[in-house]
Amino acid sequence: MLKLNRYTLIIGLLSVFLLLTAAGCGKESTSSDKPEKTGVTLQQEQHRDQEQNAPAPGETPGRQVDGKTGHANEPGNSPGQQTGATARKLISATVTHVVDGDTVEVKLARGREEKVRLIGVDTPESTKEIEPYGKEASAYTKSRLEGRKVWLELDAEERDRYGRLLAYIWLEQPVRDTEAEARDKMFNAELLKEGYAQVMTVPPNVKYADFFVELQREAREAGKGLWGLTTQEKAGKIEDYYVASSRSKKFHRPGCEWGQKIAPANLVKFKTVDDALNAGYEPCRVCNP
Ligand SMILES: [Zn+2]
Repeated sequence: MLKLNRYTLIIGLLSVFLLLTAAGCGKESTSSDKPEKTGVTLQQEQHRDQEQNAPAPGETPGRQVDGKTGHANEPGNSPGQQTGATARKLISATVTHVVDGDTVEVKLARGREEKVRLIGVDTPESTKEIEPYGKEASAYTKSRLEGRKVWLELDAEERDRYGRLLAYIWLEQPVRDTEAEARDKMFNAELLKEGYAQVMTVPPNVKYADFFVELQREAREAGKGLWGLTTQEKAGKIEDYYVASSRSKKFHRPGCEWGQKIAPANLVKFKTVDDALNAGYEPCRVCNP
């Protein structure tokens, strides 16, 4: 009686185990179908760019997407000094419309349309509110990008909270993964170099963050674009000092309401705007120091 019970128990447990494993497998395969339909289509888009023969995303519901995404992510995650251009995540696209200095609309190879926000840069506002140099920045991006074939490089995050694609826009395909290449061929870098944009670093998308701060410093020292204008425009508005938060890495005019809210423990003071910028702080968008 006892023995029989033990056997039934074992057989019972075995069959339960088998059922669970089967269910587990089923679940796994359905859950791996999901990312393929949402995020991975873009990964496949990239892959397709890299290997022209790859079948279209829509026709291949059952491919080993996991292996591919893993592969596609690899080069982006590593800083990769000597990785070839094909190893990074590049998606070819055509710019169909320029929204403003740092936002464009593109058409991908398969006709899919996307709104793209350039990573790491911020041009003055030119749509809702007009900021100094906003129109110029927008016109510049239009003149350089509209109708042009470009290559998009992604960073750690594919999209921002508005669903826009986050990308570095290459005007020509980079041959090597070097700063010199980015300086010559990447539009995000060009905006900073020519003084049409300020650095705006949003982690975790920081692949070129230090390089961008360097380009901004050069543009500022050369008085290019908005930096030249800012010096003139703000000649009468120089403060005795600026307040900053070591947490938000933003700096303010001493009279700014946001500057006054900084907790004493995080409060940092800078003598000049240059000091704050060189320390990697970003100007407040409200008081515009
Ligand atoms: Zn402020």
